Order: sequence, then C-alpha cells, then structure tokens
Amino acid sequence: MSLSEFELIRRFFANSGLRRTDVSLGVGDDCAVLNMPTGKELVVSIDTLVEGVHFFKDSDPEALGHKSLAVNLSDLAAMGAEPAWVTMALTLPSVDEGWLEAFCRGFAQLAAAHNVQLIGGDTTRGALNISIQAHGFVDPGAALRRDGARSGDLVYVTGSLGDAGLALQGAGRMNVPPAIQLRLDRPIPRIAAGQALVGLANSAIDISDGLLSDLGHICDASGVGATLYVEDLPCSEAVRDYIVLNNDWALPLSAGDDYELCITVPAEKQAEVEQIAMDFECGLTKIGRIEAQSGIRCLAADHQELQQISSGYEHFSS
Ligand code: ADP
Ligand code: MG
Repeated sequence: MSLSEFELIRRFFANSGLRRTDVSLGVGDDCAVLNMPTGKELVVSIDTLVEGVHFFKDSDPEALGHKSLAVNLSDLAAMGAEPAWVTMALTLPSVDEGWLEAFCRGFAQLAAAHNVQLIGGDTTRGALNISIQAHGFVDPGAALRRDGARSGDLVYVTGSLGDAGLALQGAGRMNVPPAIQLRLDRPIPRIAAGQALVGLANSAIDISDGLLSDLGHICDASGVGATLYVEDLPCSEAVRDYIVLNNDWALPLSAGDDYELCITVPAEKQAEVEQIAMDFECGLTKIGRIEAQSGIRCLAADHQELQQISSGYEHFSS
C-alpha cells in the first residue's frame, strides 16, 4: 500500500463529512463515544456489500459509496428510525487514492443529506468488501416491525418496483436507460416515509430481496398471509413494457435491490396514511391486503391467480 493504514484513515475517514453534537469522540480512538438523546431507543443494523455478489467488479466507486450507505439507511427507514451514526469496516485489495476519493464522495454526499456522521470503523486488506453499521433513534416502542401485520391490513409500497431488477438483467447485454440504471446504482433510502408512518403502519420492511420474499417475512413474522393485485403494482414504463412483452411479473414481484418500503396499514388508518403520503416524493401505492390464510396469492386483472413466480434472492440457496 502506498499510504499506510493510519495515513489512509486520517486522510479519508477521520474528518469526512459533517459533525454531530451528540458525538463526543469520533474517528481516531479505540472507540467512539456517543450521547444518546434522552427518552429514545437505539436502532442498529449492519449490511455488507461483497464484490461479485452485490456489485460487479470495477463498479463506479462513487456509486458504491452511495449504495453501501443507502442499503443501511434503508433498514433504518423500514424501522421508522431517524438516522444518526454509522461505522464502516472496509476491506480493500490495494490503496487506490482515486477510488477512495470517489467512494468517500458518494458516501459523504448521502450521509450529509441525512445528517449522518461516520464515527469509526476498521480498514483491512483483502477482497473488496464494504460493511456498514447504521445507528438511529426511535421513540420507545415506536419502531415499525415485521411482526405487527394483522388480517385486514392494507398492503402498500413506496416508489416503484422492478427497475433495479431490470437494470441488473440488462447489465452487459443491452443499453439500460440511465434513469433505470440509477435505481440499481443509487437507491434512495425512504427515510422520510418511514418516519412519517410511525404510529400509522402496523408493520414495515424494506424490499431488498424482492416484494414476495420480503412481504413473506412480514407474513411469517406476523402469522398471516396476503393477496396482491399485480395490476396495482407501481412500475415504471420500462418495467411495464417488459411485463407486457414477456407476460412475466417476476420483475416487480421477485427482483431485489429496489429498496422501497412495504408496509401494512389497518383499514381505519387508510385515509390518514394516504393523506400524509401526498407529501412523499416517492409516492405510496396500495397493492393488496393481509389475510389470515398463510401464503401470498397474486391475482391478475381477471382475478385469476398467477402461478409459478420465481422467488427473491437468497444467498445460501443452491
Ligand atoms: P484499533 O486498532 O484500536 O481497532 P484502528 O487502527 O483499526 O483502531 O482504527 C483507528 C481509528 O480509525 C479508530 O477510531 C477507527 O474507528 C477508525 N477507522 C478505521 N478504519 C475506518 C474506516 N474505514 N472508517 C471510519 N473509521 C475508521
Ligand atoms: Mg484499539
């Protein structure tokens, strides 16, 4: 390595981005020292991006910096939490200063947008691997969880589904429209939507592995099932074209990496939720209903059930 490990940390991570007043001690000591706001619960999550698994070799480092933080902030969004601090364990094959600069730029831009401070981490040499732990706050007992869905709840998703999957499918084979490619490379964590839904949604999850898979987690945790109306799924024009051309709903139902939120809402809160969702930049669309019967049924326009939809991504499936 041209820079020593310590020079590298000082140069790229010690003073990157904003400073929060609740950080008594940030990067540079054995531990960070943090001030919890009184009367809040701490919400913690970690996610790792591995080269060759979560992103292609030679991916744009600025986009990677953004995405590695975005997927973690998305988990906080799904809990309805307010983001605060992150730590980062970074494994690099070599010290490439241009790469690091771009990576930190992408990371710092998104961190600043959400008032997030990098407070520590670890830097090692090896195959490229980015592991980020995010910390946020919620009011006691207010976190949106997977196990709160009830029969009769309405199912909603933010934004649109299938764009990231479409970009992934097209990678190296066709010209992916830039707006679609952006959805894969720079997912937008739905932080404001998640926080606004606290006290309204019965359950929430972020869609990282595909709608059926992730809504399936809500259903399993809550002991319920669901019916979805595929014609109601919010999709971009490009995804709609794909669906019509291939007569295949797998993109919005099963493709991962969209990082939208899927939530369930008790029927008596429908009007209130749809009112506050008018302020969501990403929008919020009703796509189905929670039922007592387990499993997820997908109904077409003619109310016929779709058969044989492939499920979401799973790391250890053969
Ligand atoms: P230690 O040996 O005590 O674990 P390190 O030498 O690994 O400490 O790290 C020195 C300081 O730099 C620590 O405060 C650590 O949190 C921080 N740090 C190391 N790598 C990173 C990174 N990639 N991002 C942010 N902070 C980092
Ligand atoms: Mg130490």
